[in-house]
Formats: sequence, structure tokens, C-alpha cells
Amino acid sequence: VWDNCLSFIKDNIQPQAYKTWFEPIKAIKLTDNALSIQVPSKFFYEWLEEHYVKLLKVALRKELGETARLVYIIKMENTYGNRQPFTEKIPSANREQVKAQEIDVPIKNKNPELRNPFVIPGIRNVKIESQLNPNYNFDNFLEGDSNRLARSAGMAVANKPGGTSFNPLLVFGGVGLGKTHLAHAIGVEIKDKYPEKTVLYISAEKFTQQYIDSVKKNTRNDFIHFYQLIDVLIIDDVQFFSGKTGTQDVFFHIFNHLHQNGKQVILTSDKAPVDMQDIEQRLLSRFKWGLSAELQNPDFETRISILKNKLYRDGVDMPDDIVEYVAKNIKTNVRELEGAIISLIAQSSFNKREVTLELATQVVEKFVKNTKREVSIDYIQKVVSDYFQMDVSTLQSKTRKRHIVQARQLAMFFAKKFTKASLASIGSQIGKRDHATVLHACKTVDNLSSTDKQFRKYVEDLTKKLSL
Ligand code: ADP
Ligand code: MG
Repeated sequence: VWDNCLSFIKDNIQPQAYKTWFEPIKAIKLTDNALSIQVPSKFFYEWLEEHYVKLLKVALRKELGETARLVYIIKMENTYGNRQPFTEKIPSANREQVKAQEIDVPIKNKNPELRNPFVIPGIRNVKIESQLNPNYNFDNFLEGDSNRLARSAGMAVANKPGGTSFNPLLVFGGVGLGKTHLAHAIGVEIKDKYPEKTVLYISAEKFTQQYIDSVKKNTRNDFIHFYQLIDVLIIDDVQFFSGKTGTQDVFFHIFNHLHQNGKQVILTSDKAPVDMQDIEQRLLSRFKWGLSAELQNPDFETRISILKNKLYRDGVDMPDDIVEYVAKNIKTNVRELEGAIISLIAQSSFNKREVTLELATQVVEKFVKNTKREVSIDYIQKVVSDYFQMDVSTLQSKTRKRHIVQARQLAMFFAKKFTKASLASIGSQIGKRDHATVLHACKTVDNLSSTDKQFRKYVEDLTKKLSL
């Protein structure tokens, strides 16, 4: 069975990725519909789950049908060099922990109805799955100056859901700073302390989707009812509500009901309420009722403790100077910090190399380059105007002079290529044009660069400058 899965997987991914992530896997046993596979380490398992879970599911379902399940067995060995079994490091009282490393991942049924938490009609007996991820808890959410307020507010809420003035609790901050982790941690802690409480974690995106579906299916009232039954409602990334007035209305309704009944609401967002756009005023004012707590970039000390904790949990030893090197050089956010250390471990384990400072330098350098911040449209306009020796205002102006038009079109083309901005938003930022103009610009650049040698050189030069 596993061989068949492998050949399917092989056809669907890059050879290098296949070699790195699938060749080291060993199939162990097949019982009923559960296939057990052995992976070399915990981070390996996490990597598979994060990057290849869909592919694995499809491959396995093809072989074993809809009820297929995958069980990961994590081989505990020192990830590099001497094969010292991990079990030895764990005092015998904690042996269960080793067993707990067998992670059984049910492959959910494809039929969305079955996963939809509010299909059961008799409102009162609804069994609500909290959708919480137990791996995101307070124990492994390390404290530092950057998160102290948010973390302790979260703890306070977890101790007395609905019973503090932090209602709603809004946690905000940039990507990868721990909003989702903290949101789950609060929910997990509440479930632990108050198992009878109904807790639900949901992303704003999924909430929106459910709402839209309910409107289509004429079950909007059921939708509202369902949410009104919840004791602790956690909505992740509420900035997603911006511009979606229907969803905002229904959420406003639900929020008021929950709040009036002393239920707890926890929200996360990538911006502070004052900076949120296209969110109705009445909703914004509700957000401000409780506490808004910011997650900031972790400082050096916190980065070190996050890294050490991660290594400890994965059972990997790494010299202090290397940990410090990584912490010093990856400052953007926790997700990247973790990503860098994972690829460092991966590099050393696959190439059977010791983790040296030299290897760390290579990995970190590559990592910083690969995950380089998205270039902004402003930056693109600046680079393009510099290249053609004109001002940004000239580039944006209404003039029809050929070389200026070309520069403008190139700026639009690169904005489309290098940012995630929509055509409309690119147009509005580059001299207040509409989306059709941007689309036309992109096509023109494509055409010209295949017919005009000089123009192709512009495109090449600028691509280099922008991807440095
Ligand atoms: P966000 O939702 O803000 O984009 P996440 O919650 O997904 O960020 O966090 C990104 C990664 O960083 C996760 O793996 C998370 O476990 C980790 N992380 C963030 N903050 C901390 C922290 N204080 N301690 C330990 N891990 C953290
Ligand atoms: Mg998140």
C-alpha cells in the first residue's frame, strides 16, 4: 500500500522534495484502515503535516478508501550523529510521554456536511467540537516583554471566562507573532479548567464561509442559534471581516447575545481596532469594550528561550553559540525563527553533518533571503523611477510621453508580479489608475519583452534589482 502511495506522491512533487521528505519514511504496519509510518523525528512529522498533508490524504484514500487513517510513529533518536535513543533521556515515570509520540491523525471525511458543526437540527443536543489544537497551549507559549500583557490577559480570561472585564479580549499583532497560538492556548486552558463549557475556535474566514452557506441554504437562523449556544467563542483573524457587511451584521448580533449572557469572546486581528478598515463603527466600538492587547516582535532574550524550548521539545541538542547566532539574525517573527531552526536541523540530519556555525551561517543566510519581506508597491515605484532617472511623481503623472508610460507600465507589471495586491489596488497606488489599465500594462510588458530586445533588458535589470 505504501509503495503505491509513494509512487503517486512521487508523480506529484519535486524530486528533491520527494527524496528529502518521503524516502526516509518507513511503512510499519497496516491494521484495518490505519497505516502506520515511521518518521525520523518530530519536526519531520510536523513538516509533513504542514506541507504534505493533503497529498498524503489523497494518496492514502486512493488506496484505502474514505476511512483511511495515518498513524505517525516518531523514531526518537538524536537527529544528528550518534544514535542515542531518546527514551533514555526520559525518566521512567514519564514513559507515557514516549508513547504519546504515536500520533494518530484521523483523515476527515471529505463530505463537508459531516464536518459541519451545525448540521444537527435539534438545537439543544448539539455536540460542538471545540476545534482546538492541544499543541498550542500556555506551557509552550513562552513569555517575554513582547507578549506579557496579552499572555497574562489570556490567562486571566482562561481562569474566569466571561467573568473579567476583558470581554472581548482582542489580541492583535503582525504575522507569525503568536496570535493563533495564544488564541488556542486560552481555549485549551478553559477546556481543561471547565470541561463542561462549550468552547469553539474558528477562523474568521471559516465563519464567513459558514455564514454565506447558511444564507444560500436558507439556514441563517440555525447559524445564529448555533453560535448563541457557545460559552467561549474564539474568532481568529477578524480583519478578514473587513468589507463583508453581511458577516459583520450577523457577528454583531451574535456578539451582543453572547456578551449580554456573560459569555466570553476572544478575537485576534493583525491590526489594532483603530487601524482596522472597512469594519462597521458599531462593531469596532464593541471590540474596544474589553481589552486590546498587542503581541510585539520578540526581543533577543525571548527569541533565545523560544528556540531553546523548541529544541528541547524536539529532543535536539544544539550548541549555545549556534542558537544565539540564529536568534541574533532572525528578528522578524516567531514563525520564521522556528522555520530557520527546522531547516538547520533538517540540513544537518540529511547531510549527516554536525551543526557548525558555518552550516548555521549558510542556512540562515539562505533563509533570510528566501523569506525576504514582500516588496512594497512604493518600493517598486522608487526602484523603477530611479532606474529611468525620473521622480516617482513623474512616473505617476498623467503624461503620455512614451518613456514615462513605459516606466509606469513596468512598475505596474512588477507590482503585480512581486506583491499580492489586487489590480485595482495597484492601479490606485500608481497614479490613481483603474484595474483595466493595470491589466493592459501587464499585457503590454509581456508583449514588448518578447519582441523588443531593449525592453527585455529593462525587465531583466529591474527583476534583478527588485529581487536582491
Ligand atoms: P500568528 O497567528 O500571529 O500569525 P502563530 O500563532 O501562527 O502566529 O505563531 C507562529 C509560530 O510561532 C507558531 O508555531 C507558534 O507556536 C510560534 N510562537 C509564537 N509565539 C510564541 C511564543 N511566545 N512561544 C513559543 N512559540 C511561539
Ligand atoms: Mg494566525
